[in-house]
Amino acid sequence: MADTASQSRIEELLAGLNAPQREAVTHGDGPLLILAGAGTGKTRVLTHRIAFLEGTGMARANEILAITFTNKAAQEMRERVERLLGRRTRAMWVMTFHAACARMLRADAHRLGYTRQFTIYDQADARRLVKRSLDELGVDTKRFTPGAVHHQISDAKNKLRDAEAYSRLVGSYFETTVADAYRIYERELHRMNAMDFDDLLVNAVNVLQLFQEVRDRYSTAFRHVLVDEYQDTNAVQYRWLQLLASEHRNLAVVGDDAQSIYGFRGADIGNILSFEETFPDAHVVKLEQNYRSTQTILSAANAVIAHNREQKHKSLWTNLGQGEPIKIRELDDEHAEGRYVVGEIERLVDEGASRAEIAVFYRTNAQSRVIEDTLVRRDIAYQVIGGTKFYERAEVKDAIAYLTVLGNPQDVVSFTRIVNSPRRGIGQTSLGRVIAHADAMGISIWQAAAHADQVPGLGTAAVRSLGRFMDTMQDLRERVEQRVPIGDLLESLLHDTGYIDALQAERTIEAQGREENLAELVEVAREFDATAEEEADTLDVFLQGVALVADADTRTDDEGLITLMTIHNAKGLEYPIVFIAGMEEGVFPHSRALDEGGLEEERRLAYVGVTRAMRSLYLTSARRRAVFGATQYGMRSRFLDEIPPQLTDRADEPRIRAGVAAQRPGSWASSSSSTRTETAVPAFRMGDDVAHAAFGAGVVTGVEAGGIVVVRFAGDGSERKLMAEYAPITKL
Ligand code: ATP
Ligand code: MG
Repeated sequence: MADTASQSRIEELLAGLNAPQREAVTHGDGPLLILAGAGTGKTRVLTHRIAFLEGTGMARANEILAITFTNKAAQEMRERVERLLGRRTRAMWVMTFHAACARMLRADAHRLGYTRQFTIYDQADARRLVKRSLDELGVDTKRFTPGAVHHQISDAKNKLRDAEAYSRLVGSYFETTVADAYRIYERELHRMNAMDFDDLLVNAVNVLQLFQEVRDRYSTAFRHVLVDEYQDTNAVQYRWLQLLASEHRNLAVVGDDAQSIYGFRGADIGNILSFEETFPDAHVVKLEQNYRSTQTILSAANAVIAHNREQKHKSLWTNLGQGEPIKIRELDDEHAEGRYVVGEIERLVDEGASRAEIAVFYRTNAQSRVIEDTLVRRDIAYQVIGGTKFYERAEVKDAIAYLTVLGNPQDVVSFTRIVNSPRRGIGQTSLGRVIAHADAMGISIWQAAAHADQVPGLGTAAVRSLGRFMDTMQDLRERVEQRVPIGDLLESLLHDTGYIDALQAERTIEAQGREENLAELVEVAREFDATAEEEADTLDVFLQGVALVADADTRTDDEGLITLMTIHNAKGLEYPIVFIAGMEEGVFPHSRALDEGGLEEERRLAYVGVTRAMRSLYLTSARRRAVFGATQYGMRSRFLDEIPPQLTDRADEPRIRAGVAAQRPGSWASSSSSTRTETAVPAFRMGDDVAHAAFGAGVVTGVEAGGIVVVRFAGDGSERKLMAEYAPITKL
């Protein structure tokens, strides 16, 4: 029963909502659907509903399962709930699909033949294993790349097709090869007690499907299931939710069909569009007020998405005012683009913006490097979300592989990674013999290596090296069993295995950097130790956490950091100031998507990007860009042209050399009469009073494309054309 204190807390909770939001939050039992545009408070409704369910006693904290897609979004959601509920949030499952499934499997995977210590393979590990499977088949991996084959397998898994089902469906030579590789890949994963990311979902579904008692346990445990970004669920996620919620039917989903951006990974927009067919009694709520963006940003987003044919019309409005125009800038190349973006960031920060308010988005991960380099040169702190920045580094992956082997002695992939790193004179051939022996005897790679003298065909030197190596590993393994803190374990591991010594012997700046990264990893482990529960199996809990953040490097101390990420990773997030770089045909929309008929999905992605911005939005493009070493000349993105000119402020930046200063046909200045041409740095306008180092005082009488300013000088009455960027002129 709600007492007066909690009564007033609930009133306070509801006071921050508009009428339809309140309707959704206070909805009782039964299915609930919110299908609404960006920034209308869908996520806010979910977090408030969670607080409402808990506050009114409709559900206890641990009876709520709240799911979203990315680590960053999950972290944001958890923080929002925590602000409403405080510490009680701790008992709650607010996490990604993958994290929730991994957690379930830690308890129940043994039913499927795994141990509790199963390893989670990231994309790179999985790809390596696919390569081994292709090698075993004798397939030419230049023709059928492990990447392409893994993509097919992953796609099949997300459609809940196992190797058998897949092989029955396919016909082409490529596909039958994939089917064979899929079979071997599965066999190998099982043998190594490992799962790839897709398996987390598939196996969670399997365990719920095959074991009635598991299904009963979870559907009783989670009386309310809430899902954000429901438009991006795929078949396996859909199935998992059905299994969990079909009994009590307390399933609340929110989403926006215009923001469906994972079709390429098998997301099915139909899941949200047919929700009312699945649940005919679903309560449906519409939200139309956007609380995030200025009218200018919203109108631009609406104009872009209106070009899609498959589009449920939604009318969005905001009362945040018109705001400033969208800044569109075309630069010479990606370096000029980076300089422009970073220059603007510096200017904005000088003017009082906080770094945490600023985000830079791009279509493909590779675009981040130039922007990162520019930021580093200007000494501006930044973070890359989802960019595999830290955990991708070789030394970090090595250290993790060592820990993984200590946790899971069957893991051949991790063992292979570390056995000769640092070099111990254990070559490919020796390793191959050990693996073959393990296979033949049906023992783990650890056991085989620990008794290297029994491995047929192994040279004495290799036997000795392996012996020393395994002695060290055995000692470390005992420390694992004694449950020493992970930080301590990692530190002694790095020393005892000779890893640090090898780096120090290199005496290079690079090796020093690697050492620093490892120190940082020890710090990560210490932070984990400080918060770990007393519970058993701390090493795998640690490794599981690492595996899950490995390709979504989420730092919590994002105070004062510029944020960089792909637009895919930005889904659900919001920033006062947003830059989207690389607005060129072929980059965005991406050429691959264009080839595959995915233009509408690219446009939805543009809609997602634009609607992240609250106050200021910059869209930049480069005339020239190096892509995989080759220079490409891209046309500006069609999405730029889909934004009505009256919402934008378009300008060319000054050309680098006078020789190219002539206006290019088709550039914005000539293609649209309403555009304004001005120089980017520094901004001169007609009528500005200026001073020139040699010619003295003057007034700007014209501004031309390519960064040319025309100045009439008071001294001799002459009119001169100058390059704004290089001429020694200052505005008075
Ligand atoms: P997206 O489609 O991008 O995921 P969304 O629909 O989930 O967006 P939210 O992130 O929940 O939208 O809300 C957008 C912003 O508007 C947030 O800053 C949120 O706090 C704010 N907001 C939403 N509803 C209200 C409200 N009723 N009063 C004040 N602020 C609100
Ligand atoms: Mg949201």
